[in-house]
Amino acid sequence: MACRPTVVVVPKWGSGHFISALEAGKRLLATGRGAFTLTVLVIHAPSEAMASEVQGHVCREAVSGLDIRFLQLPAVEHPTCCVDPAEFASRYVQLHAPHVKAAIAGLGPSSRVAAVVVDLFFTALFDVVHELAVPAYVYFSSPAAFLALMLRLPALREDLTGAGFEAMESTVDVPGLPPVPPSYMPACLVKAKIQSYDWFEYHGRRFMEARGVIVNTSLELEGSILAAIADGRCVPGLRAPALHAIGPVIWFGSTDDEQPHECVRWLDAQPPASVVFLCFGSMGSLDAAQVREVAAGLERSGHRFLWVLRGRPVAGTRLPTDADLAELLPEGFLKATAGRGLVWPAWAPQREILSHAAVGGFVTHCGWNSILESLWFGVPMIPWPLYGEQHLNAFELVAGVGAAVELEMDRRKGFFVEAGKLERAVRILMGGASDEGKKARKTAAETSTACRKAVGEGGSSCAALQRLVREILVLPTAGNETR
Ligand code: UDP
Repeated sequence: MACRPTVVVVPKWGSGHFISALEAGKRLLATGRGAFTLTVLVIHAPSEAMASEVQGHVCREAVSGLDIRFLQLPAVEHPTCCVDPAEFASRYVQLHAPHVKAAIAGLGPSSRVAAVVVDLFFTALFDVVHELAVPAYVYFSSPAAFLALMLRLPALREDLTGAGFEAMESTVDVPGLPPVPPSYMPACLVKAKIQSYDWFEYHGRRFMEARGVIVNTSLELEGSILAAIADGRCVPGLRAPALHAIGPVIWFGSTDDEQPHECVRWLDAQPPASVVFLCFGSMGSLDAAQVREVAAGLERSGHRFLWVLRGRPVAGTRLPTDADLAELLPEGFLKATAGRGLVWPAWAPQREILSHAAVGGFVTHCGWNSILESLWFGVPMIPWPLYGEQHLNAFELVAGVGAAVELEMDRRKGFFVEAGKLERAVRILMGGASDEGKKARKTAAETSTACRKAVGEGGSSCAALQRLVREILVLPTAGNETR
């Protein structure tokens, strides 16, 4: 083991980033068949809740018997004066650069560092990776559509006034996608405007320095967008970074619970494809007025439902709390829907739920992991984007992939959803008669087959992973030039 090369992964905290990057690393490891090991540099997450979440994953993998070594980096002070999450993550990791350098340099004597793979927010680490003359890669846990947009940001800036996408009247050209109405631009770029824009633009520019960008997608899912990036349509005149579409990268591990989760036991008693599942990611929560509309919409739809309802984060934190159902839900709601609905107030085992035969539809906040998980299990969706790049993902899901029924949102009222709109979308998706619902269900089933084929032996993502491993193993190392 001592003389084998190692691939260093530097993942970002937060389940959507950390688990995905770790899983991608494990797939590299498995494809390498013992030719190299994996070293994960663990950055102390900025909040205790996130740190313990990361620790849970580290502890589980540390006893997996795989060739993975976890190195915890020393804690650093938090950067001051930044409220924007993209800016915070980018500046926070900048402060870790000397520790990252020391950790990578420290590996040198025992194992050659074949490549360093950093999270999409961590391109500031390229400076030290270049200094050490090690090839740098980005792991992009979001869709290729968002990658295309990030690469386009310098050019789009010219079309924007100070008010950002919100004030834009024309559609936005994201190569490979149909023209995107400005209201579908990611919330992280629209709301926070300039600060976020600057940082996403910064990372988009730096992707061009990478030896390659490893994307959690597949040719079958986003082929036209991957082709548009490769053809240089995002950054005309410059060579696009090499793309490695190795997805869907989904973690199928389970918790240590011996008993089936209560949500799963409840699903066991429901008929096949009868339940609509609602879940809003690791950071999604709704305000009290919106909760009342969801309750009314579900009640009126007449369909069975499993609703993961979380409480608002406490001040100064970003993670939702366990919900107080008695306080949040309208009086009489639980009684009126008893037997056909379950409201779960805490974290739920989403992948297990999506894999359950009783689930026939998914109202999702459109985090990319959630979309991929739903597609993997062939569950059609109703997109309800909240934060991050999710609005663009929702657009792609309806206008591109096609495995979803659109939910009408009042964009002028902060994307508020009225009960009647949710009721309508649920009836279309879950009811047997509508052509729109039939099409979404059929496309979801076909996409599931395509995703499984892509990562299976001989599939496009499996082949991309094999090419990437070959590239990493023969790449020049210390002393040679990097791009
Ligand atoms: N997740 C879960 N239970 C929950 C909420 C989320 O298991 O109650 C998982 C979900 O399966 C997915 C991840 O958390 O793997 C969320 O990632 P995604 O990219 O969808 O959204 P994010 O939370 O990063 O916004």
